[in-house]
Amino acid sequence: MNTTASPKTPLPVPSGDRLEGRSRRARTEPMSVLPLGDGLYEVESASEQTYLVDLEGGRCTCPDHVFRGVRCKHIRRIAIEITDGRTPPPGEITVPCHDCKTTVFVDETDPGPFYCETHTIWPGDTVVDRETGDRLTVVDVSVLRADAVRIGAADCTVAEYGTNESYNPDVPVVGAVYPHATVARHGVVPESLKVYVFPRTRLEKQPARLGSS
Ligand SMILES: [Zn+2]
Ligand SMILES: [Zn+2]
Repeated sequence: MNTTASPKTPLPVPSGDRLEGRSRRARTEPMSVLPLGDGLYEVESASEQTYLVDLEGGRCTCPDHVFRGVRCKHIRRIAIEITDGRTPPPGEITVPCHDCKTTVFVDETDPGPFYCETHTIWPGDTVVDRETGDRLTVVDVSVLRADAVRIGAADCTVAEYGTNESYNPDVPVVGAVYPHATVARHGVVPESLKVYVFPRTRLEKQPARLGSS
């Protein structure tokens, strides 16, 4: 699993706080925190050393913890970053959005692909098909994978379908309709409202049109 470290930078010391020793250094020294999953974190210190921290066990591989048994600045730093929303809590990891690379915190057992809030799609959203440029309206966001959903008319899975071959077969599928429904004198022609199924990564969310509500 790809996971991303927090930016290596000092953190501001809250005004009025008279932090001493390890509590102060946990903030003022530039450190980055990489969530590894399973409650483990890797902290890179100002001196480029990396230490492994088991947060729930309260353990760190640094000499300060190993030899003195204290709650070292690395353990404190992770706790601060979690409180500040810079680093995810145990059980979550940091990953880039598939479409814009903004980092998001996700459950470490989620299979992905991952999207930020802007690029997450919901029924009713407008998306663009990356292959054709067509605009569609989403009607269903499934948890089923493209290699597990069959297209009856084509006798193959969504993943195997010709124009989908360049997309990962293990992504979920999304059902969408084309907006150009055929309306006859007696109403909408049902076949023209067919739901088409796409691998999630083939579709890209479009921002809501200005002026529409
Ligand atoms: Zn430490
Ligand atoms: Zn995004």
